[in-house]
Amino acid sequence: MIVNREDEYGYAFREFFLPLPRKGSIMNDEYAHGHADGVEAGRTAISILGSTGSIGRQTLEVVSFLSDRFRVIGLSGRSNLRVLASQVEKYRPRVVGIESPDQTDDFIRLLKEKGLNPDEYPELVYGNEGMTAIATLPEVEQVMVAVVGIAALVPVLSALEAGKRVALANKECLVTAGHLVMEASKRSGGRIVPVDSELSAIFQCWRAGSGRQVKRVILTASGGPFFDLDKEALKNVTPAEALRHPTWRMGKRITVDSATLMNKGFEVMETRWLFGLSVDRIDVLIHPESVIHSIVEFEDGSQVAQLGTPDMRLPIQYALTYPDRYKSLVDPLDLALVGRLTFKPVDLERFPCLRIAYDASKGISTLPAVINGADEVLVDEFLSGRIGFTDIPRIISMVAAEHKPKEEPSLEEILRADTWARERALRAVTG
Ligand code: NDP
Ligand code: MG
Repeated sequence: MIVNREDEYGYAFREFFLPLPRKGSIMNDEYAHGHADGVEAGRTAISILGSTGSIGRQTLEVVSFLSDRFRVIGLSGRSNLRVLASQVEKYRPRVVGIESPDQTDDFIRLLKEKGLNPDEYPELVYGNEGMTAIATLPEVEQVMVAVVGIAALVPVLSALEAGKRVALANKECLVTAGHLVMEASKRSGGRIVPVDSELSAIFQCWRAGSGRQVKRVILTASGGPFFDLDKEALKNVTPAEALRHPTWRMGKRITVDSATLMNKGFEVMETRWLFGLSVDRIDVLIHPESVIHSIVEFEDGSQVAQLGTPDMRLPIQYALTYPDRYKSLVDPLDLALVGRLTFKPVDLERFPCLRIAYDASKGISTLPAVINGADEVLVDEFLSGRIGFTDIPRIISMVAAEHKPKEEPSLEEILRADTWARERALRAVTG
């Protein structure tokens, strides 16, 4: 029987907001996990999983800007070895993760081209185990998880178990295994600080009251490039159009997920777990300018919003420096220039992915993993031109309806459901 599980986790999460000892630097707060002893000149030791991606690269921009506060210990990439080699040249991490030992020669050649000597090469680790090793290195205090997909799950659970502070950009971990991630955090004291702009906004607004006095949260959504199209027109949109997001520059999968609103559905799921709210207290509001990043409504009816220039470097920096704030790379918002903020209700008829996500968020089961797995495959199929835009929700619904959800699933059951959903979705496309 699942009763008020969100409350249980939510309470654990609310401890995050206890008054913090302030001794000047984030290194001294208890949430930096008190490893200050081994810290070089007060700089926080950080690993970045997925450093070659959109969030990963922006994280390194922030780290460069705050180089007196952070030093890079571990980095990982998968296919983009050239970018990874440049990052090694610049940040000199001790350990680097690549996908497979087969890439070693190519990667070493790139390091040589950069003029690195063998004694300057980082230790190389591989695949998922490699990412887990980078996330749990003893000297690492913070881990930025900027890998896309369920591949981040074991590294995140391991980092939390090891008591690390996890800056979490990756969505799939909380979407597919929120109960396991929150349990790991609660058990070990490893803390999660959200990176996604909406979750960061809620995280910031939440502090305006007591967690127990939060009535609901309102996640804002740009609505993506197709928000004004009718059902017929949606059938004919192209991948190139879907990748042209009006306000954010992001990786391909999340950009298409923003166009279908599945991304907002995933954020509903993440909010549920991270903030301990049942989904009937999580609303979505279309706000095309992406200036208000989300809103928390308290019992008295007051709504507290977080506003900022739509630039991921801002929530990335806040996740790294929480609870402190420093000068950033991002120009402050000029509301007089923005001029007008607009809002519209969400239309679940035209954007059924959001409804699918809400429906899958009622209990604790393998259903979100199935939806996520199917969605990832179908986004790829759409981008390759093999299916249309509206086929994405159609096939996800079909796969979800065939699935027999397992309640309170283990990690293995989640991974099995993910594999099944991918195969089933692919079969639905290829016949
Ligand atoms: P990208 O596709 O730009 O980057 C993904 C990163 O993960 C790359 O470094 C990539 O390596 C690596 N990677 C991909 N698959 C694997 C794998 N199976 N094993 C190991 N590494 C892998 O994605 P984003 O940066 O846009 O997004 C990252 C995560 O953050 C996603 O979960 C996304 O939903 C979330 N997010 C992103 C936002 C954004 O603004 N971009 C906003 C909020 C959340 P390589 O490139 O070398 O192949
Ligand atoms: Mg977001």
